[in-house]
Amino acid sequence: MKTRRAFLQNITMASAGLPFLTINASSLGNIYKSDDKVLRVALLGLGGYAQRVAESIQSCKRVKITGLISGTPDKLKTWSAKYNVPEKSCYNYQNFDSIKDNPEVDAVYVITPNSLHREFTIRAAKAGKHVICEKPMAINVKEGEEMIAACKKANVKLLIGYRMHFEPHTLEVIRMRNEGDFGQIKFFQGLCGFRIGDPAQWRLSKALAGGGSLMDIGIYAINGCRYMVGEEPIWVTAQETKTDPVKFKEGVDETIQFQFGFKSGAVASCLSTYNMNNLDRFFLNGEKGFAEMLPSTGYGPIKGKTNKGEINAPVVVHQTEQMDQMAGILFDGKKPVVPVDGEEGLKDLKIIEAIYKAVATGKKVSL
Ligand code: NAD
Repeated sequence: MKTRRAFLQNITMASAGLPFLTINASSLGNIYKSDDKVLRVALLGLGGYAQRVAESIQSCKRVKITGLISGTPDKLKTWSAKYNVPEKSCYNYQNFDSIKDNPEVDAVYVITPNSLHREFTIRAAKAGKHVICEKPMAINVKEGEEMIAACKKANVKLLIGYRMHFEPHTLEVIRMRNEGDFGQIKFFQGLCGFRIGDPAQWRLSKALAGGGSLMDIGIYAINGCRYMVGEEPIWVTAQETKTDPVKFKEGVDETIQFQFGFKSGAVASCLSTYNMNNLDRFFLNGEKGFAEMLPSTGYGPIKGKTNKGEINAPVVVHQTEQMDQMAGILFDGKKPVVPVDGEEGLKDLKIIEAIYKAVATGKKVSL
């Protein structure tokens, strides 16, 4: 994409002579061409995050909304008018399987409460559509495996909505780590949380959410730990703190601290909570230097610095970047720097289960 290239060149030139780090165009992966195939996506579950995704898609170079699936007829009416989706491409949860006969839809993006991801992913796969599914991909490992198997059987791709895997500051830290700028990695700290409101919402229902803060926001510390350290953890210990057992019922965690060990000898210390606002920080340290992301996984702008200076990378709308890059993955076989496939989602679920086991037993759990 011409404007992107010009933008990146401008950034490099503007920062010449300053103690800033620059990111080069190739680390962003895609330079779009006008003849790139457009990804036609149907959004399933028209709630808060779907709204953000829908708005972000309006700025995409190669993605458009061509279908809508919702249980609320009024939403279908409003959204179809707003995003110019014909009535024949609007479905409810009962008739959604007939999307298989709709040649205008390439992929279904599942954006419902967590426990519904499995069912809708499998139904979309059976309808012959690629699936993009929000994080966490499911509420347990077994369901995640079933989703991967269903997509394989239907010969469609399964991608998880890991938007940070396309975020330029994040990618720059990964590039620097790979080039040895921080030396041998020794330590990571991931702190992720917000203070949750309405006690009646699905995020506080074990049946719909599959857990509590760990499933929803702590997953960013788990996933981030893996891409920042660049290694898979081999053991975990964890401790839970619950100050409000009325709001955070059995099986819904309020705050969990967890620690990882890695084969290299690196260790990590993380915290996931539904009881602190503006908690969003990653810190990575190696033998030679550090990287700090603050904020690290919110909608941005993401800010990062290292012992060499501030990271000066393009500020992007995460969901716009994610969707354009996913079009490249689905149609052109592009390989992202950090994977976003079902297996990647499953790795996080395995760690989540191990953390819950470590909390329940008080013991170190091997991964
Ligand atoms: P939300 O409550 O705003 O929206 C959920 C939607 O699902 C609503 O439209 C609701 O009507 C629908 N729904 C269908 N069946 C339902 C049921 N049985 N109970 C409740 N709602 C039902 O939630 P959200 O914030 O949009 O989250 C949806 C998914 O997106 C979750 O998996 C969440 O983890 C994920 N998410 C991801 C990000 C990200 O940055 N990647 C951010 C927010 C949410």
